[in-house]
Amino acid sequence: MLAEGTELISSGGTPPESWPALVLNADYRPLSYYPLSLWHWQATIKAVFLDRVNIVDCYDRMIHSPGTEMRLPSVVALKTWIRPALYPAFTRFNVFLRDRFTCQYCGSTEDLTFDHLIPRSKGGLTRWDNVVTACSPCNLKKGARYARDIGMMPRHAPRRPTVYELHRNGRAFPPNFLHESWMDYLYWDSELEE
Ligand SMILES: [Zn+2]
Repeated sequence: MLAEGTELISSGGTPPESWPALVLNADYRPLSYYPLSLWHWQATIKAVFLDRVNIVDCYDRMIHSPGTEMRLPSVVALKTWIRPALYPAFTRFNVFLRDRFTCQYCGSTEDLTFDHLIPRSKGGLTRWDNVVTACSPCNLKKGARYARDIGMMPRHAPRRPTVYELHRNGRAFPPNFLHESWMDYLYWDSELEE
């Protein structure tokens, strides 16, 4: 099942303004999932003319320029394979995803924010191994104290996840917009068939 709020952009519907193309690596896997590798249509057209990508699929929409007419690509694949990153970017969304959108202290899934195990005021750094997902009440309760001093231990010791681990957690949290032509290249398609 796709998460609530996910819209499939149909050919007749109204896609986002940027008409994004899903960017695949030369092996036809998405270049990245978090964030999903998407290019604005102008960047896509430029890459097509620079001969850096193959067009895999298109929107039902033409673009015109003097002497040319072409359908806007909805999926492109790089001609040169790029080694995928092993580790995901350190972003707010990815920290939530690592922790499955769950407060690491009480298990709540509402009113989520972030908590530093070693408080920032005591030199704690904002990085994978010191930041956990926490609900606002737990965050407030802990305040600028050390988690271990007040018996608030996170359910999972925070650490940097691999891209593979985020993919596994991400099955339940697809992006808000997915064009139908992308689905063959994303693992969410198998979820749709269930
Ligand atoms: Zn909590």
